[in-house]
Amino acid sequence: MASFNDLAEVAQSISQTQSRLQIVQAVGNFLARLDPAQAEIAARFLIGRPFAQGDESRLNVSGRAIWKITSEMVAAQDRGEDLFAAAVDFGEVVETLMRLRGVEPEPTLTISGVGAALSKIASIEGRASRQRKLNGLHDLFERASNLEAKYLAKILIGEMRHGMSEGLMLEAVAAMAQRPIGEVRRSFMLEGDLGRLVAILRGVAPAGAGSVGSIKPLRPMLAQPAAEVADAFAIFGAGNFALEHKVDGARVQIHRVGNQVRIFSRRMNEITPSLPEVVEWMERLGEHYPIFDGEIIAVDGSGRPLAFQELMRRFRRIREIARLRSEQPVRLLLFDLIGLDGDLLIDRPYRERIERLGEVARAGDLETVDRLLPTSLADAEQFFKSAVASGYEGVMAKSLDSLYQPGGRGRGWLKIKHVRTLDLVIVAADWGYGRRHEWLSNYHLAARGDRPGELLEVGKTFKGLTDEQFAEMTRRLEGLKTSEALGTVRVKPEVVVEVAYNDIQRSPQYEGRMALRFARILRIRDDKSAEEADTIETMRREFESQPIRPRSPR
Ligand code: AMP
Repeated sequence: MASFNDLAEVAQSISQTQSRLQIVQAVGNFLARLDPAQAEIAARFLIGRPFAQGDESRLNVSGRAIWKITSEMVAAQDRGEDLFAAAVDFGEVVETLMRLRGVEPEPTLTISGVGAALSKIASIEGRASRQRKLNGLHDLFERASNLEAKYLAKILIGEMRHGMSEGLMLEAVAAMAQRPIGEVRRSFMLEGDLGRLVAILRGVAPAGAGSVGSIKPLRPMLAQPAAEVADAFAIFGAGNFALEHKVDGARVQIHRVGNQVRIFSRRMNEITPSLPEVVEWMERLGEHYPIFDGEIIAVDGSGRPLAFQELMRRFRRIREIARLRSEQPVRLLLFDLIGLDGDLLIDRPYRERIERLGEVARAGDLETVDRLLPTSLADAEQFFKSAVASGYEGVMAKSLDSLYQPGGRGRGWLKIKHVRTLDLVIVAADWGYGRRHEWLSNYHLAARGDRPGELLEVGKTFKGLTDEQFAEMTRRLEGLKTSEALGTVRVKPEVVVEVAYNDIQRSPQYEGRMALRFARILRIRDDKSAEEADTIETMRREFESQPIRPRSPR
């Protein structure tokens, strides 16, 4: 049985070398030495993943919770600041804390033991679940050596920072199996999870998606962002691409094989039970057996799109599907055909896939996403404008020659989104951890309220600033500090930032009953004072005018 300490030592040794070759060899040899079941888990752990891709398990423990557990173990809660300040990363903070224990436990943890413990902690639900989760973690840390604790912490927060990328791990896996890297990459595209890939290469799991017969999800193809439709002309050239509405729903991959239909989410979780009507629609396809890629959206009684948030209700409740099905109807918009009648079509160009998609969708009376093959920039811009006016997030531009790259964020697909912005005031900020431990890096954003001087929080973001801007913002906010507790510094409301967001959603947790979705800072508006920031009333109007409307926030 391989010890978790061996894994921690390998991780530690690769953090001390710059040589890709040495890293690949060290990890490849390590994985080859382990029995297949341990190798499967170790491959995930080494890139900071506690669970398989597609596994629903979530630990939901923050860096702060781990800090709390470990600092309490050594009664060093008050030493937070100097330890955080001295450490290069979060794992190191934990290791330093653990050294204060005096007596270090003999390493007895095994890789599969840690894997099983994490799954068990993730599965804790119900009464006092948070405390019970913390207790479970406490037990693990108590049994861990100092080095083990360091890597345990890193796996828990999913930040390894030891130079092991997914790409390098694939090379290590190829070295483990003594197989060509191209072949390993391709299997990974199809399988989606590193651990599973290891299990297949070690002969203990059957290869899946390559043969459509055994239904397994492929990793969905991803898109690169672009600023405007003109970029699509520059990149693909006129006549070589299609524009499609970018639908704000949930990605679905639908497989129909024989008399079976299975539906998978973007993260490759099975969601078939949540969408019984989609299963029924597929039965209209007669003798066609496709793998579709598409988007599911929530609609109101007259078929008009509703916000993403409304759709999520369908996935959250497992028991009330029958009721939710009538209460919250959905629409399916298909945009790609990645397999048909037992053949994968991922190596066929997009122009051919959409043609066949059209034929199959017509046969089953299924809807496809609106698409245009623009011949002029004016046409393309008009399509973008009308997409936004009808409530879509923007458009996708797809090269007609592109192949379907599972999991790839290639240049074949561009996403071009309509950006909304608000000017908001920073009213508080959280200290970061890991690389950001010296910075106030998560900003609480507020809009002006209905009463004079009133500020209502509407979201938080840690996105959009450069390292220099973080450092500068930290200095500025420290100068405006009014109080500090639990890692959050409240500040005088003076700094205004221009924040981009995708849409506004209902949110009972926030004072303004609304929250921004995907907020990120675009610019620091030194030209504006807090009195000139946007108001909650503006936000309400924006909310009401979102063409795809959530239910009212009031
Ligand atoms: P994003 O999530 O912003 O990276 O944008 C990519 C996502 O947009 C995909 O994963 C799909 O869920 C979604 N999407 C919406 N409409 C389309 C479309 N026409 N083609 C491909 N993806 C789409």
